[in-house]
Amino acid sequence: MVAQRDASWSPLLDPAAFSAARYDRLGHRIGALLGSTHHDIALVPGEAVVALEAVARELGGGGGRVLNVATSVYGHLFGQWLAAGGATVTTLTPSVPGQPIPLAEVTDALDNGPWAAIALVHGEAASGIVNPLAEILAAARSRGVPTVVDAVASVGAEPVLLGDEGPDILVIGAQKALGGPSGLAVAAVSETGWGLLARPAGAPSFSSLSLLDLKRDWLDTDRTAIPLTPITHDLWALEAAVADVEDEGLGMRVARHRAVARAVRAGLAGLGLRLWVDEEERSSGLTTAALLPDGVDRSTVLALARDRFGVVLGTGSSEVDPRLVKISHTGPRAAFVPAAGALAALAGAIELASASGSPRLDLGAGMAAFTASWIASTGGAG
Ligand SMILES: *Cc1c(COP(=O)(O)O)cnc(C)c1O
Repeated sequence: MVAQRDASWSPLLDPAAFSAARYDRLGHRIGALLGSTHHDIALVPGEAVVALEAVARELGGGGGRVLNVATSVYGHLFGQWLAAGGATVTTLTPSVPGQPIPLAEVTDALDNGPWAAIALVHGEAASGIVNPLAEILAAARSRGVPTVVDAVASVGAEPVLLGDEGPDILVIGAQKALGGPSGLAVAAVSETGWGLLARPAGAPSFSSLSLLDLKRDWLDTDRTAIPLTPITHDLWALEAAVADVEDEGLGMRVARHRAVARAVRAGLAGLGLRLWVDEEERSSGLTTAALLPDGVDRSTVLALARDRFGVVLGTGSSEVDPRLVKISHTGPRAAFVPAAGALAALAGAIELASASGSPRLDLGAGMAAFTASWIASTGGAG
């Protein structure tokens, strides 16, 4: 019988096969984008949290002491997975939740080793911060401590490279600054990195939460059979996102995110709002956070921004300052128009939410500072 497909047929039901050769090339293209010199690139099916859990469990399987820098919920989860895998975990958190970790606190902790590894999140879209990654990597390297980095939210928005100065294990996601699908993540692992991983005690011989299985079943094979049947649509989408970044250039992608972040910071300050992060270098390229004026109700501002201006603003997680609001400028939103709209919407929503007679924001100064910063970042006047 001929299948009756006309009415219900969709190209999504019939994606072209993604070949093993293409899959292999995709890994190499990602490695090349990141300037990889000595890392294996493994595509991990599942959203980025799956890849992070796989890394943490097998890092825990090594059984050593791990210094875990936790600057958001992701870092705390990573610590739990490490412990579940068998590691002894020491957690380092910033004294103000949602702020970056100060370098000096990390170096002090590193000096209280020995450590099997240090793990940290690079950029936190959640609170709009960036930890001092290059400095932490250098401090760890000089003490012989291997490094494991969650760059899911930072790759494409902040400089992250896999050369000699890079971390031993790096997990990246496609769905943030790379503008790709959320169904696949990437783990980059150096030889030192592989040496850190071990199957947790009692682990089964096959697991979808295992980088060692991906090594055994793909990296160490003749690479003719893709392991784990990743979703074909995700592979095509990831390839398209990688092509897009290759076209723009990773450095330009980072510069675009940083330029938008700088303009939004200038705009927020111009409005008269307090920025959440003092130093621009410690402020995320993906999202920018500011504090609402006292007495302005956050949920009212969020609802007004959504309903009157069509803009979805974010907040921090529950332990972070309840006045925090953030503007997302991630991936396709890292551009003048969406960022200008979000800034104006935030200002408008605050104006509407403020009791009459309370101090007003300077909308003109905010938009002027935003635009002046954008002009300066994109080549200056005239
Ligand atoms: C977004 C993000 C992840 C991944 O979370 P998803 O659930 O895959 O979106 C992991 N770590 C950090 C720091 C993130 O910002």
